[in-house]
Amino acid sequence: MPEGDTIRRLAARIDRFAGQTVVAADFRHPRLATARLERRRIESADARGKHLLIRFDDGRTLHAHMLMQGRIVCSRSFDVPAWRRRFEIELSNGYLTGIDVPQLDLIGSRDERQVLAHLGPDLCGSYDHNAAVARIRTVAGRPIGGALLDQTLVAGFGNIYAVETPFICGISPFQKVGTIEDLERVVAVGAALIRTNAQLGPQNTTGSNLHRTEHWVLARDRRRCGVCGDRLIRIAGHDSPWKRRLVFCPICQPERPTSALDRSRVTRLLRTHPARRLLDLVHGQLSVATDVPVAVHDPRATG
Ligand SMILES: [Zn+2]
Repeated sequence: MPEGDTIRRLAARIDRFAGQTVVAADFRHPRLATARLERRRIESADARGKHLLIRFDDGRTLHAHMLMQGRIVCSRSFDVPAWRRRFEIELSNGYLTGIDVPQLDLIGSRDERQVLAHLGPDLCGSYDHNAAVARIRTVAGRPIGGALLDQTLVAGFGNIYAVETPFICGISPFQKVGTIEDLERVVAVGAALIRTNAQLGPQNTTGSNLHRTEHWVLARDRRRCGVCGDRLIRIAGHDSPWKRRLVFCPICQPERPTSALDRSRVTRLLRTHPARRLLDLVHGQLSVATDVPVAVHDPRATG
């Protein structure tokens, strides 16, 4: 699922095409049907939250958002029907194919800041943890599971981290933001996970089989809780208050009048995940190291 870490790694992969010239570009998108990019050169690629930006040397930026289903591959994709290939860009030495990408636009590179001004702090960029937590606190009456998905509060979390973070912390996804005593630590756990996965690869929240996508609860919704053994509760997207699929454990994640992160649980569940390096567990505190840059070690690991 394209969340902030996926898009950050994709941007790093496309950035390797910087300096290459567009030989041919076809768009099958109503907003870009007549767009011309031929003979333009890619300058760079970047990510802001879940938004992808591909900049060209004529001062324009191809701005893409994948929503739930889109993806961009650095190859040709003849096995995908042409109508699903929303754009195909042939470069002097490579290809970019946008498959099922729902939101595409060509904007002025100088307008990027304005177009993305609504986003909260970028979890996979130069992340300001205090600013993110301050924004989330403004929605005190909203459930934490839904608040983590609001890109205007903090940019980059999708449903994987909105489901997995409360589980790891032992907090109900329905717990109101204003009733969580150590909100900054809860957000720190999610931030540490997504920043680490942006560096290392798959969206892994368990710490085992790090080369694979693996989750504590989201992909285990027909099974029992891996911590307490109780049956997980699954709520379909159309029945969820924030319209996204929800999985949680009623025993590990009870809704309380006030709730706090369970430190020993976080320590136990993240003991083999490298995200723990971004969390100061030794001194009993959790804090995101905001000065850790996202450096993608192996961009070829994503598609
Ligand atoms: Zn449980």
